Amino acid sequence: MALARRHREFDPRAHVRELACVIDEIAALPELDARSLDRIVKRHPRRGCGLFSKSEIIAGYRTLGAADRWPLDEVSFVARLRKRPIRTLSGVTPVTVLTRPHPCPGRCIFCPNDVRMPKSYLADEPGAQRAEANRFDPYLQTWNRLSAYRDIGHPVDKVELIVLGGTWSFLPEPYQRWFVKRCFDAMNDFGAALDGRPEAEALAAPAGFRELPERLDGENLERSYNQQVSAFLGRERDEQLLHERERASWGELEEAQRKNEVAGARCVGLSLETRPDRVTQEEVVRLRRLGATKIQLGIQSLSDRVLDMNQRGHDVAATRRALALLRRLGFKLQAHYMVNLLGATPEGDVAGFQSLFEDPDFRPDELKLYPCALIESAELVGHWRRGEWRPYPEAELLEVLEACLEQVPEYCRLSRVIRDFSAHDIVTGSRTANLREVAEDRIRLRSGRLRDIRSREIRDKGCDVEALELIDRVYASSTGEEHFLELQTGDDRLAGFLRLSLPDGRAPLDELESCALLREVHVYGASLALGLRTDGQAQHRGLGRRLVDRALELARTAGYARLAVISAVGTREYYRALGFEDGELYQSKAT
Ligand code: SF4
Repeated sequence: MALARRHREFDPRAHVRELACVIDEIAALPELDARSLDRIVKRHPRRGCGLFSKSEIIAGYRTLGAADRWPLDEVSFVARLRKRPIRTLSGVTPVTVLTRPHPCPGRCIFCPNDVRMPKSYLADEPGAQRAEANRFDPYLQTWNRLSAYRDIGHPVDKVELIVLGGTWSFLPEPYQRWFVKRCFDAMNDFGAALDGRPEAEALAAPAGFRELPERLDGENLERSYNQQVSAFLGRERDEQLLHERERASWGELEEAQRKNEVAGARCVGLSLETRPDRVTQEEVVRLRRLGATKIQLGIQSLSDRVLDMNQRGHDVAATRRALALLRRLGFKLQAHYMVNLLGATPEGDVAGFQSLFEDPDFRPDELKLYPCALIESAELVGHWRRGEWRPYPEAELLEVLEACLEQVPEYCRLSRVIRDFSAHDIVTGSRTANLREVAEDRIRLRSGRLRDIRSREIRDKGCDVEALELIDRVYASSTGEEHFLELQTGDDRLAGFLRLSLPDGRAPLDELESCALLREVHVYGASLALGLRTDGQAQHRGLGRRLVDRALELARTAGYARLAVISAVGTREYYRALGFEDGELYQSKAT
């Protein structure tokens, strides 16, 4: 928030001379590294206070009539200044937002109890800090994040909205609709250069969660997270602060979604997170109606004994049922798996991880792999103090991670390894932030196997589009046959992929009767603003169409009358252009 304010107050016209010098020097260099940029900004300090930030330099470029003045166009200039291009190389810009604190039906002993945050998050995590600074307001979080991305030069026309916080399915439905609607409102406004923040700030919930106690001792919880948050929300409700404000009808949400179909910042993916035992037929339909395309599901372990010891409150059978239900409705499935839980062993963790991909009931599309970290406010602290649990020593943990990483198949993307906890929040256990890199380096050193999507992505490299080979990787799932179609370069890089499900048995919805399911299409290349092109990069070159055509052919050959796509709100236009027709919750095309 402080950063956003500073930028709003910055007026490039008050610094024309120094900014022009900075931009002159940047534009004159063949390429820019961090050290050169540092020297340039120090040579031309910001009059009055400090040095120019990248966002201020970009603002200066835009304000000073840059196009006529410097040889670099805006895209090339901001690309030169980009801070962390890796974030958007997968083609879309991720915007993560958090729901406000709310009770969670889980009693998981490893889960932090920071009552100022939605369950399982800590106030020190970067994303959580941003959410709190915006008082968990969905509009402010989305708008300000888009603004921050744009300020450092990232295109924001294609957004993957990732909603985190406790168990989504346990939040009141009016709040769910309101939260998603307000995220869409922010994208719609931002894309149209409208700023609804003053109004949102006036209406946002008070920053009252800060009043709640900062640190809890997990072993001596006088009142649980749920009791404290419920009491707080109850007080707020009495004052009629929360409930009148945080609600929207389905009609209001659908109106915001319709606007987003053609907005300047479109939602091309919406991810929500929940627990296996909350996934019912009614719930999956609701998730779809909200516009979700991906579900993050806490699997945590494939051992009933370990789940029970950690008080997860569901068994492995619930995980099987949830994944099948979600897959039948075409969702992209991201599983969370933990190692080193209470009662777990390194051998058991690796064996469980193996089952995750050997057993057709699981086989997630994406995965977050988290070694259990001990947080002071988690109940696990008591087990640790009594000597019932210990963190694996780092060498042992690395061996477990290496064994797991090597088992991830080509169709799965390992999105994350370890949680974003600050080192000082971890009571005991590994504090190595780059554990994944260390494990991957060790695997490479001994010529081991890393095949997951992330390790093969083409990133921003150019490729000869004509030479791409289309490979069909077929595997079984609990609901039928899966096809992972991938476009591969000669040196085994992934330029794009598509997930096609050919379900067996009865369809869960009339709309999906006789339909194959297109669950995801992804084409790589640095994300480009709509209307812009970068030669040789993979996006915008008909690769998506090539993949969809192949999926239609496969569906037809297998006897499906139609191909239904679980399109995001912001990709509806794209599919219409490919001949797909709008249905109630899906778009579909005759094969
Ligand atoms: S379900 Fe998730 S958020 Fe809830 S207590 Fe368990 S781990 Fe924490």
